[in-house]
Amino acid sequence: MSVIRRLHSLMQNRKISPQELTEYFLKMVQEENPRLNSCITIADKTARKQAEEAAQRFEQGSYTLFTGLPVLLKDNLCVQGLPATCASRMLADFVAVYDAAVWEQLYSDGAVLLGKTNMDEFAMGSSSETSFFGPVRNPRNETLSPGGSSGGSAAAVAGGLAVCALGSDTGGSVRQPAAFCGITGLKPTYGAVSRWGLIAYASSLDQIGPMALCAEDAALLLDRISAKDSRDDTSRGLGQTAPLLREPVTGKRVAIVREMMEGASLPVQKAIEDTVQRLHTLGISVTEVSVPVLRYAASAYYIIACAEASSNLSRYDGLRYGHRSESPAASFHEFVCRNRQEGFGEEVRRRILMGTYVLSAGHHEQYYQKARKVQSLLRRELLAALEQADILLSPVCPAPDFPAGKTLADPVAVYQTDLCTVAANLSGLPALSTPSAIWENGHPVGIQLMARPFADGNLLQTAYWLETTGTRPPYPESVRVLMDGKEEF
Ligand code: GLN
Repeated sequence: MSVIRRLHSLMQNRKISPQELTEYFLKMVQEENPRLNSCITIADKTARKQAEEAAQRFEQGSYTLFTGLPVLLKDNLCVQGLPATCASRMLADFVAVYDAAVWEQLYSDGAVLLGKTNMDEFAMGSSSETSFFGPVRNPRNETLSPGGSSGGSAAAVAGGLAVCALGSDTGGSVRQPAAFCGITGLKPTYGAVSRWGLIAYASSLDQIGPMALCAEDAALLLDRISAKDSRDDTSRGLGQTAPLLREPVTGKRVAIVREMMEGASLPVQKAIEDTVQRLHTLGISVTEVSVPVLRYAASAYYIIACAEASSNLSRYDGLRYGHRSESPAASFHEFVCRNRQEGFGEEVRRRILMGTYVLSAGHHEQYYQKARKVQSLLRRELLAALEQADILLSPVCPAPDFPAGKTLADPVAVYQTDLCTVAANLSGLPALSTPSAIWENGHPVGIQLMARPFADGNLLQTAYWLETTGTRPPYPESVRVLMDGKEEF
């Protein structure tokens, strides 16, 4: 059973109050956060107030599925009155002055925000280790990275600190940490969810996505946050996905993407093979497709993402807001340079420099224009592949996990591991990461499903049916206690 539905029914039937549920999870956060470092801000005061409001809504009968539900948001999402640091020294003291559209929706339903989650600085990274506030740990195995950049959200959900969380995904930051922590993560179709109040990394690629313990919870959360919003011109909204989940999947066509299998490690290959068997038992046919231009996807992504980041991050000058250096500056130029030099970490500075370089006169055509051509070609090839199949199957990452503390030494090697995830962002397609039944180092290896634009529901439905074959890892202990044995479908 969905955790969200179960907790809702507990509150609706007065078995537990929103205040009790909030205290229960706040205690989890307080106890576990020193170990996992998954939250930058613990919003205990506001959470208690929201829990009280939720209780009143139950009294008055004006509740929804999300009333009283304890959630976490990545720290690049704005919530009025709370810090939004992007895990950067640059924004360490920044307090948001308005709410992100996604939080507006959840808040208007009476959800309870337990806190803001740790991440790679400005969402740039794959291990949640570039954070100014220290690295996040994987709750399933502390010698492993939780993935990134939404590693705090993934670790918190997998560790049972909250029921679900939101992350952001520019090149895989929802899906890859979901895979490394053994939960479900979805990067919605570009435009399904409003980016209003999401601190930008690369605006043409950024999407906010749900991170949850099962496909149904991810669908429920997506359905609540997807909307057309006049404040984000690229937003279109999305139809409801949750009602689709239990519809039969027999007859669907899945295709493995050949180029995404190149370089896959043994556990990842096994996870794909096992998934194929499970798809067959569900009556789904599996073939193979080739998308040759994928070989250039990671390079194109890093050019486009860095180009956009160099422009988006130019607003942090330390004058209007952002870190301001203590040391005196002789000129305005020096003042801004000092603020940015001290405020940004090494990886962020590297990307700003790369982005400025690929956009500069003389290099623009050589790099940026070419990357945009690869992007168009990739979208065309992926859409063509999706004529032959309803869903594309691939690894999330060639490796099942990363060892903790090792990824920062060789940034380019880590960039290359984003090959499978960046394709969905470059082409705007929805993509989901779900645990396979193959276990490595004590946690399941994630696999990725991709579909046509706005077919997010197809992904969640397939993930739901895969779960019925036994791929879903056990819920964390703190959640299991509340499920009272009602974990089955
Ligand atoms: N790992 C990718 C990067 O570092 C993806 C990040 C993201 O999706 N925010 O750019």
